[in-house]
Amino acid sequence: MEERLAEIREQIELLKKPDQDVLLVAVSKTCPISQIEEAYNLGVRDFGENKVQELLDKMENTDLPINWHFIGNLQTNKVKYIVGKVCLIHSVDSIKLMLKIEKEAKKKNVCVDILLEVNISGEKSKHGFKEEDINEVLEVANTLYFVKVKGLMTMAPYTVPKAELQEIFSKLYKKFIDMPVQKLDNIENEVLSMGMTRDYKEAILCGSNCIRIGTYIFKG
Ligand SMILES: *Cc1c(COP(=O)(O)O)cnc(C)c1O
Repeated sequence: MEERLAEIREQIELLKKPDQDVLLVAVSKTCPISQIEEAYNLGVRDFGENKVQELLDKMENTDLPINWHFIGNLQTNKVKYIVGKVCLIHSVDSIKLMLKIEKEAKKKNVCVDILLEVNISGEKSKHGFKEEDINEVLEVANTLYFVKVKGLMTMAPYTVPKAELQEIFSKLYKKFIDMPVQKLDNIENEVLSMGMTRDYKEAILCGSNCIRIGTYIFKG
């Protein structure tokens, strides 16, 4: 794991632009706590989980001051379990879910940072807002008090040629840069979460500043 993490960090340095800080989120879904501790000891502080119960179990079983990221499909009835416990929810894919997060955050009087998941490729099987609906969603988000939109996230389809990956990631980068942050005070374009094991290099080249890597770190 040490060598693989070193390689990812080297690639980040190699591929990023000078003013691009890329956060590595280690996706620890299905991994035991022992592997999370191993990665933590190698300097990883941000971990991503995609199931609420698994996340809660892991939180209960470690005292490490980890920044937990929620990256999976989130059901509205489970929002209450993670609000106030995770540093960022990457995968908000409906207005209904966003409003539910606002409601639960209000109850606990906490701010919740979220990203809007965008289905850039338009694949039917993928979650996420349509690109053309994002501005409308941002207008709704701007009326909320406890939810803060920090940026955008996407997952590229599993089997696409490199050229198409580039097209997908560049499209989201453009959308990210063009977010109407001057006009809407509750909206920031700080985090652009894109890139996984198979496509993180292309994602960094296209402007990602948050990559989510599981397989390569934990499974080799
Ligand atoms: C599993 C997962 C990842 C990590 O994927 P790998 O291919 O294992 O690196 C990233 N993002 C999301 C949303 C995931 O569910």
